[in-house]
Amino acid sequence: MSTLVWFRRDLRVHDNSALHSAAKASDSIVGLFVITPKQWKEHDDADAKVSFWLENLRCLSEELEKLNIPLLVEVCDSFGDTPKIVVDAAKKHDCSQLFFNREYEVNERRRDGLVTEAANVEGIEVHSFHDRIIVPPSEIETKDGRFYGVFTPYRRVWDTKAMDYAKVLSKPKPLKVLKIDRSPIPESIEGFDFSDARSDLWVPGEAEAKKRLKKFATRIDGYNDWRDIPSTAGTSLLSPYLVAGVISPRQCLAAAIKHNGGSLSGSEGSTTWISELTWRDFYSHVMVGFPRVSRNQPFKEKTNRIPWRYDESDFEAWCQGRTGYPIVDAGMRQLNQTGWMHNRLRMVTAMFLTKNLLIDWRWGERYFMRKLVDGDLAANNGGWQWSASTGTDSVPYFRIFNPFSQSKRFDKDGAFIKKLCPELEPVPSPALHDAKKLSNAIEEHAVDYPAYVVDYKEGRERALAAFKSL
Ligand SMILES: Cc1cc2nc3c(=O)[nH]c(=O)nc-3n(C[C@H](O)[C@H](O)[C@H](O)COP(=O)(O)OP(=O)(O)OC[C@H]3O[C@@H](n4cnc5c(N)ncnc54)[C@H](O)[C@@H]3O)c2cc1C
Repeated sequence: MSTLVWFRRDLRVHDNSALHSAAKASDSIVGLFVITPKQWKEHDDADAKVSFWLENLRCLSEELEKLNIPLLVEVCDSFGDTPKIVVDAAKKHDCSQLFFNREYEVNERRRDGLVTEAANVEGIEVHSFHDRIIVPPSEIETKDGRFYGVFTPYRRVWDTKAMDYAKVLSKPKPLKVLKIDRSPIPESIEGFDFSDARSDLWVPGEAEAKKRLKKFATRIDGYNDWRDIPSTAGTSLLSPYLVAGVISPRQCLAAAIKHNGGSLSGSEGSTTWISELTWRDFYSHVMVGFPRVSRNQPFKEKTNRIPWRYDESDFEAWCQGRTGYPIVDAGMRQLNQTGWMHNRLRMVTAMFLTKNLLIDWRWGERYFMRKLVDGDLAANNGGWQWSASTGTDSVPYFRIFNPFSQSKRFDKDGAFIKKLCPELEPVPSPALHDAKKLSNAIEEHAVDYPAYVVDYKEGRERALAAFKSL
């Protein structure tokens, strides 16, 4: 009898808990991946992300082939169809066990419960593993056994546990050869458009992810100095690989610990980077503990009473990167052109939409998901609710970023702005950070750049009044 390993967002052979354990338990393995286009659409998964998944699936299939594991690829509409697909595959290929890594979103957990039930009915043993974040969501709890809704105390407990989860698992050795052909990987999926996919920027495969991590480890000490400067490669650029599971967060943590000589703390840069991995864990912890956040509800429930605006024209200007605020527009154009946006700019653009334009954070959250190659429900929701002051640990509502001060601080010479908004090339850099000078320069150089959609001060006052009214 063989074992079926069901791959989802864990598209790798190294440090894969389910695959590693399956190879210990059985001498022959069949792999399975289920494409669910309708479900992915319902989850607002972006064209860029689905294209990246398929490319990585192709790499995974190659790697598994070297281990004599054929990867089967099945297509069905939605998660509801997966129990039948998974059980049928197990029966057809004589698999008595099913192994997979757990996912923590509400629909994914429901799907896994249904698959487990269906497999049990057929006498197939099911083994699921914690793998997606570093410390399992329910392993960290408050003194009275609840989930944390604040980062700092969560982090304190996380620090006491993380070392236990930093061990990286080896890739399995080649297994018994099976007479099963692996499936071809589809070039396209109905409902998704891959014509703008940027595989030049997001090269698929585990080797690429490991290369990025290795290269970043040589720069990690400078992370604190460079991580807020969008014109430089100051961050690891690993998020799409982490979201697709092409690299594991354990591999990332282990690299940072190694750099620190075996400790969770090291230089300011590496300690801060580990903090970011902790935020990643934290937002999954919040999503599991407070499932309302993945059902379109704010963490702070009273913020549901904010009179959000639903102005299509202002929203469209934001989406297109035509707000008249150069740093906001550069960020949005980076997202539209590459499927990724620098973290500082995710905060700036999200805060601009939710505060200066007072548009419902859920519109922005959805737009990001539909564009991001690294779209992840927990991290995206956490970031949006932070920016909109509706979430855990969110920014106080009165601390509203001034986009001009932000660009002056983080893109002083305008290198990033001018790369993404080339029409602003003739504008002298200081004018990019000042409303009046910008409007004069636009007129003087006859630049085709829009006037601002909202006056900064007026937008700020409107947001303050809306939050104070709660
Ligand atoms: C409004 C908003 C939306 C966001 N949406 C997403 C999203 O959909 N997917 C996503 O992975 N990240 C999201 N983030 C977090 C962060 O912007 C990205 O993880 C980061 O920009 C990815 O670049 P990097 O890999 O170079 O990160 P690095 O700075 O090198 O960090 C390493 C890893 O830590 C994790 N990480 C870093 N910062 C955060 C954070 N603030 N919250 C959670 N995890 C973090 C990511 O997995 C990242 O790859 C969002 C942030 C905001 C403010």
